[in-house]
Amino acid sequence: MAEKTDVNELMSICKRRGFIWPSFELYGGVAGMYDYGPTGFSLRNNIVEVWRDIYKGREGFVEIDSETVNPREVFKASGHVDEFADLITYCTKCQAPFRADHMVKDFYDNADVLTPKQLEDAFVEHKIVCPECGGKLGPVEEFNLMFKTTIGPGSARIGYLRPETAQGIFVNYLNLYRYNREKLPLGVIQTGRGYRNEIAPRQGMIRMREFNMMEVELFVDPEDKDWVRYPEIENESITLVPNTTCEPAVMTIKEAVDNGIIANKVLAYFVNTTKNFLIRLGIDPARLRFRQHLKDEMAHYAADCWDAEVLLSYGWTEITGIADRGCWDLSRHAQFSGTDLTHFKKFDEPREMEIDKIKAKHKALGPKFKGKAKDIAAAMESMSPSDIKDGKLTLSIDGEEIVLTDEFFEVSKVKEKVSGERVIPHVIEPSHGLDRIFYSLLEHAYCYDEEKGYAVLRLKPEVAPIKVGVFPLMEKDGLDDVAKEIYQKVHSHRVEAYYDGAGTIGKRYARMDEIGTPWCITVDYEYFEGGDKGTVTIRDRDSSQQKRIPAEKCSEVIDSLLSGKPFSEL
Ligand code: AMP
Repeated sequence: MAEKTDVNELMSICKRRGFIWPSFELYGGVAGMYDYGPTGFSLRNNIVEVWRDIYKGREGFVEIDSETVNPREVFKASGHVDEFADLITYCTKCQAPFRADHMVKDFYDNADVLTPKQLEDAFVEHKIVCPECGGKLGPVEEFNLMFKTTIGPGSARIGYLRPETAQGIFVNYLNLYRYNREKLPLGVIQTGRGYRNEIAPRQGMIRMREFNMMEVELFVDPEDKDWVRYPEIENESITLVPNTTCEPAVMTIKEAVDNGIIANKVLAYFVNTTKNFLIRLGIDPARLRFRQHLKDEMAHYAADCWDAEVLLSYGWTEITGIADRGCWDLSRHAQFSGTDLTHFKKFDEPREMEIDKIKAKHKALGPKFKGKAKDIAAAMESMSPSDIKDGKLTLSIDGEEIVLTDEFFEVSKVKEKVSGERVIPHVIEPSHGLDRIFYSLLEHAYCYDEEKGYAVLRLKPEVAPIKVGVFPLMEKDGLDDVAKEIYQKVHSHRVEAYYDGAGTIGKRYARMDEIGTPWCITVDYEYFEGGDKGTVTIRDRDSSQQKRIPAEKCSEVIDSLLSGKPFSEL
């Protein structure tokens, strides 16, 4: 078996066999846009189901579905309006646009941290010109990657297509928190489209303009970054590329946490969960590693960030990012929306703490508010210092709104027994690029079988789009009727089967091997007579081994194989 993926052959299979099609081909296509065909869509759905099984099933997280068009306020708060940009340069001669850092990536380990000025200097130093026409490259400027639109007619309200699904979870934090009966940890998942107006989408499904994400946001107590299942996985090993050495090293999760390589146990747990998720899908463990962001690559608010990288024909490629985002997201949305997004953390025992309290200045209140002064003082002292806006407190007494300056109150520290405190939850985020995972699975499953003379996709049965091919040896003599009956019994939404009676049996096996179907059932003449009467053959894709099984047990056999029974034990 040849291990190296022939990308051209793989892309040809993808197109021919209904995995992916370049979008709008009828009109010449648009770079960075792909449609999923029937086999591809099944494979993609199966990946999502494994992800759900882990996060909803095992970890007990909840799933939501939020809007893809968001008002500007959301992305102003998240920082995307001001920061979500790549650096662009245009050729001064042919006007072709290029990502400026990509032009110099052969000269720097991490070209995407260079400033516009450094990039312009690098063009001169390394004599970089337009790869299309040899023209001089122009100035380097910022290009925001969000697609802009308006919500409602005219320019009523500016909106953006979301560049990630995560913000839909953050803006629903309060609803989710209440739904979770105001408890932490709170795990939420969302899958859906993200949109990024990429400057140069040149690497197939790696850089798309409309892509699919599976995001997980786990809200945790900032002082409790542990995970209940951590002890179950701490001795598992993993390949890490820490930012201190930048060299891959295999170690246990416990070693990584105890030596301060991964910042905390909960992050380490989800780095490891990502490893097991990707391997369960069919990523080759030898071509998987976790690279820590370099200090200057890490978002300023992130406490730690790791990328799951797989080795593809494009080189090492990020397919999932796992970050400890600290309190950034919720504090920003709290600040921009003026809403309290904290969690009330109850102590096991009440604690004596020094806290800020509002104290009424009775001497000032009395002369001014006379009979109402007592009620005003009580109302003020029940408020929190966070209610002071622009140095003023606004309260309502008997339906009358009263605005008070600090002439009437002060904030002072008092010692009090308190039952808990309010904290802004921290967020641990495993963010998966579904299309990149999909493509990586195809590359890692691809092998060219020299003996058979065609390519085979060794997809894991759990994700394979078609689980079983059902064939009559010949489409005559009643073999076809039996095969169709078996197909009807086996085929379901969960276990997709495919009936094929056309062409030689070898061609039909080849067609199934090419799309990664793990098993094929063939009805031959022995079904009708002799010692094997009532039986059919079942063939294993990877070993090409065949066994005879009773025709009426086909569904049962497929179910047991799908639950992990080895073919050799049938
Ligand atoms: P990010 O928010 O940039 O960390 O992206 C999260 C994940 O989405 C990445 O790990 C990628 O797998 C995926 N991703 C990001 N940008 C694209 C893109 N333009 N096309 C396809 N997948 C992407």
